[in-house]
Amino acid sequence: MADADGLGTRADLVERGDLPLLGQDVSRTYRLGIMGGTFDPIHYGHLVTAEQAFDDLDLDVVVFMPAGRPAFKQGRNVTSGEDRNAMTLLATSDNPHFVATRFEVDRAGVTYTADTLELLREIYPDNVELFFITGADAIAEIVTWREAGRIARLAHLVGATRPGYDLDRADDLISGSPYDFDVTYLEVPALAISSSYLRERVSGGQSLRYLTPDSVTGYIHKHHLYGVVPTRYVSVLEEGESS
Ligand code: NAP
Repeated sequence: MADADGLGTRADLVERGDLPLLGQDVSRTYRLGIMGGTFDPIHYGHLVTAEQAFDDLDLDVVVFMPAGRPAFKQGRNVTSGEDRNAMTLLATSDNPHFVATRFEVDRAGVTYTADTLELLREIYPDNVELFFITGADAIAEIVTWREAGRIARLAHLVGATRPGYDLDRADDLISGSPYDFDVTYLEVPALAISSSYLRERVSGGQSLRYLTPDSVTGYIHKHHLYGVVPTRYVSVLEEGESS
């Protein structure tokens, strides 16, 4: 892992290739968005959320960080980190505001957000502020996460909600906690889309067009994720080839 300070840190960051270089100009503050999610699969709801956070919170860049081995999903069927990372890379590659990182996927063992933020805090100088962006449901649970107090000290939190989402529960949990969380909520209409909806559609042989980038759909079919129905994909290819 890179040192906390100095040129060694910057060189390591560049060498890693997938974390943005920030903090060089000591006369200003930088705002780094960290988009945390399982991304199984990534979809337009996530992409719109990140773009809206970039604009509304005046971020310098948003780093998409697929969860490594999520603590809270032990024993549940989660697609491999390699596949989720590949889909995240494909989905984010055409937006200059976005970067995708293997930071959690490459970490051994269960990945806790508190550890992730601590490591990022060591890598980046003090003039880089961290904004951890995720779904409001996850934010509501954050008080129960490992070392929640450490998370509160390390990062601002951004909770993305669907329109009509009842924020009372999240608000009660956050304000009732002993920790000083700084939470901003973003209402994102595109979050009517969810990963579970996409997975259901794939296994039912239905189209994902306009729900996630076509490159992600192509990856899902090529790698037979989510119980993909192969005959439908073949027929789509054949239609394309004959036109
Ligand atoms: P989740 O509980 O599966 O998701 C909760 C809700 O939030 C779902 O509706 C989900 O929709 C949505 N969501 C998730 N990530 C989002 C994002 N970046 N932007 C907008 N909506 C999002 O949560 P998760 O995806 O597994 O975990 C979210 C993040 O919290 C990850 O970075 C994870 O590592 C972290 N986490 C840490 C701990 C811990 O440290 N103990 C515990 C739990 C979660 P979709 O299903 O459509 O994404």
